[in-house]
Amino acid sequence: MKFVFDFTEGNKDLKDLLGGKGANLAEMTNLGLPVPPGFTISTEACKVYLDSGDEPAALRDEVSAHLTALEKKMGKKLGQADDPLLVSVRSGAKFSMPGMMDTVLNIGLSDKSVQGLAKQAGDDRFAWDSYRRLIQMFGKTVLGVDGELFEEALEKAKDAKKVTVDTDLDAAELKKLVTRFKKIVKAEAGRDFPQDPREQMDLAIHAVFDSWNTERAKLYRRQERIPHDLGTAVNVCSMVFGNLGPDSGTGVAFTRDPASGHQGVYGDYLQNAQGEDVVAGIRNTVPLADLERIDKKSYDQLMQIMETLETHYKDLCDIEFTIERGQLWMLQTRVGKRTAGAAFRIATQLVDQGLIDEAEALQRVNGAQLAQLMFPRFDEDAKVKQLGRGIAASPGAAVGKAVFDSYTAIKWSRSGEKVILIRRETNPDDLDGMIAAEGILTSRGGKTSHAAVVARGMGKTCVCGAEDLEVDTKRRRLTVNGHVVEEGDVVSIDGSTGKVYLGEVPVVPSPVVEYFEGRMHAGADDADELVQAVHRIMAFADGKRRLRVRANADNAEDALRARRFGAQGIGLCRTEHMFLGERRELVEHLILADTEEERENALKELLPLQKRDFVELFEAMDGLPVTVRLLDPPLHEFLPDITELSVRVALAESRKDHNENDLRLLQAVHRLHEQNPMLGLRGVRLGLVIPGLFTMQVRAIAEAAAERKEAKGDPRAEIMIPLVGTVQELEIVREEAEQVIAEVERTTGVHLKLALGTMIELPRAALTAGQLAEAAEFFSFGTNDLTQTVWGFSRDDVEASFFTAYLEKGIFGVSPFETIDKDGVGKLVRDAVAAGRATRPDLKLGVCGEHGGDPESVHFFHEVGLDYVSCSPFRIPVARLEAGRAASSSTGSDHR
Ligand code: ADP
Ligand code: MG
Ligand code: MG
Repeated sequence: MKFVFDFTEGNKDLKDLLGGKGANLAEMTNLGLPVPPGFTISTEACKVYLDSGDEPAALRDEVSAHLTALEKKMGKKLGQADDPLLVSVRSGAKFSMPGMMDTVLNIGLSDKSVQGLAKQAGDDRFAWDSYRRLIQMFGKTVLGVDGELFEEALEKAKDAKKVTVDTDLDAAELKKLVTRFKKIVKAEAGRDFPQDPREQMDLAIHAVFDSWNTERAKLYRRQERIPHDLGTAVNVCSMVFGNLGPDSGTGVAFTRDPASGHQGVYGDYLQNAQGEDVVAGIRNTVPLADLERIDKKSYDQLMQIMETLETHYKDLCDIEFTIERGQLWMLQTRVGKRTAGAAFRIATQLVDQGLIDEAEALQRVNGAQLAQLMFPRFDEDAKVKQLGRGIAASPGAAVGKAVFDSYTAIKWSRSGEKVILIRRETNPDDLDGMIAAEGILTSRGGKTSHAAVVARGMGKTCVCGAEDLEVDTKRRRLTVNGHVVEEGDVVSIDGSTGKVYLGEVPVVPSPVVEYFEGRMHAGADDADELVQAVHRIMAFADGKRRLRVRANADNAEDALRARRFGAQGIGLCRTEHMFLGERRELVEHLILADTEEERENALKELLPLQKRDFVELFEAMDGLPVTVRLLDPPLHEFLPDITELSVRVALAESRKDHNENDLRLLQAVHRLHEQNPMLGLRGVRLGLVIPGLFTMQVRAIAEAAAERKEAKGDPRAEIMIPLVGTVQELEIVREEAEQVIAEVERTTGVHLKLALGTMIELPRAALTAGQLAEAAEFFSFGTNDLTQTVWGFSRDDVEASFFTAYLEKGIFGVSPFETIDKDGVGKLVRDAVAAGRATRPDLKLGVCGEHGGDPESVHFFHEVGLDYVSCSPFRIPVARLEAGRAASSSTGSDHR
């Protein structure tokens, strides 16, 4: 195996092997752009080093061979006393990662070669400046010396000369500083600064390898779900110098604005500077446009190169460059990060420029970005006071009074206050407080912390790990930069950016939602560019997707919104919500009925109410399929709380005041009490045990459909049976339903076509899907319950109690309730699809669990061949987009 590659040997697609920086340096080299020559040590070498604790045996010789070739090309040797070749040693993993080792510049300088460099450049000051930078960077990043010590020494030198910027120090002062720096190294690292150039280089290479495993790098990888075994590459690059005087300098630039996507000149430039100076803020930079005035030739060349890069990468690129005495050098490029809004705009701009096609445009955006654009946001024009910033753990914009414990959160929210729950970190005891709060803010923990996981599960805004905030729960206050926020003070948190503000920041609706709601038209003159871009991308997605998208909606209002958002039907209408509120008492009567007559009466009262629900729903979704699920949850949910009722009965008893009804109710509640309701009397079991319940619902559906037909409507009802485990259950319900439907057809004289199908949400249902398909015209995978039953997880219990530990231990990278577990739950889905279709080739297949709106899961459902996904109305645009992306990509959704 070969471990070292010259810049001429690689290309941009070799990021796994050469890291992002190395692959792109090679790409630019091969494009003929001015890149200082060099070579890349592969991630494979790093892996061997990390596994065995030593570099691979062949590495030293390979590096020597490449170094010799480089020296030949440059006409000087590394650290050569009279004319030294200098190099930088730069880390570069596949994904850019905070916590990796900083680059060391000017390797090859020593007490001897600094003189040679001075003579060659004709500039003493430059040579000593480069040397002091080397000792400083090397001391800090390779030898682990506290960087502050160097900074302090530099400050002292400036103070002594009464100057403020480093460029005002002359050669003699810099020479003194070098002596001082060397003393610091000796004292702190317990060794002399190495004078042998090759030793400098080797130590720097090993330091880059080691930096793969710093705590910060590990934490970042866990949060971003970057595998720990990728390793980093190391780039050795011959130096070019931006610190050779005013005709030299260094800069950064974007080929277009990463915030808006607009084309133009975006970047910063700093004269007489090296490396990070431009972003470190040591002196004031000038806008890139000023370079035209400073050095027109280099500026024109740079503009040319930026266009070449953008055309070549067909995307926004960011770059680093240096000008050495009027000669431009390219030091880095990559496809640049951008905001969610810019991603949509840039994708459509590139289509208009003819650089990419619609399918490619779909790969340049994703559902998470679209979701981000749909959250209400804080008004950008508002005057705000930012308190700090944490990790954007769960998106949204939340405003409320600061509370520091769950008890207060619950108490205040009950009295109508909006609260933000602020904790150092949350634990399962905080669950009720989290539910009561508008948003959650913690000062510790990352994207997989308890607060983050639970908040995402609840769809609640959360900022976590805001480390600047000192949370004092005992004194109910938080301190940040000397500012104190007391309990009751209003704070605003932005779960999309992680920013924390003092006071109430006004919230504005997202223009993208206004567009989906139909309150803003993409064609209108005042429609902003973002809305136009989203409109076009959605059209691309709709044109490409095979999956249909339906909504989970229980009433006409939700259904109408879903329709505006592009729903092509309802995949799940839960009827249990229709039984709550005022009607709960009727259900109580039904449960408590002692005689046939009592039961009949209760059902008779419920029927017209149910029918009216469906008439409204079918009207709202006229012409589109509506899947109605018959009653699913355990009956005791309709009964009073057992403890409350017991107390009431006991109190009445003590007053000798018998309430016959309460007593009967209490008996029923006891009778129906279950240890584990999730696995108890619910779903089809309920329909089979309570006579008349399901048939009443079927009758309501059939009569509603008939009424709509008589009104010249086009109702397309589908009846869905929940929690089926065996075909026998389905057959009984089906027979009864068919009788009822036939009866309604007879009495109304309207011909009805009502499809009857089943949910697949128990492992046994999935395993016997072939049999179920005999009695079902459609399957809808209920992946929430299927995940619960396949894993044996009770969602409400496990998410709050131990998911954090599981995520931290890497047992799974993401909660199986968020993204479908492809290997387990997904395998059942896949097999059930095949078995179902084998029995009934025209079987209709969909999914109605929350996974139906999760980007990665949508790709999976596309791949296993479902006909549709169904999700909450608000997630429909995301599902449409991801379904389009899935259909137009063969490689999946990995576009970081
Ligand atoms: P990062 O990953 O932090 O961007 P880089 O490896 O790009 O680190 O290097 C840090 C700084 O040093 C950048 O400004 C880069 O342009 C500059 N730099 C790196 N190598 C050289 C070189 N050979 N000559 C001049 N400047 C360099
Ligand atoms: Mg860089
Ligand atoms: Mg279910």
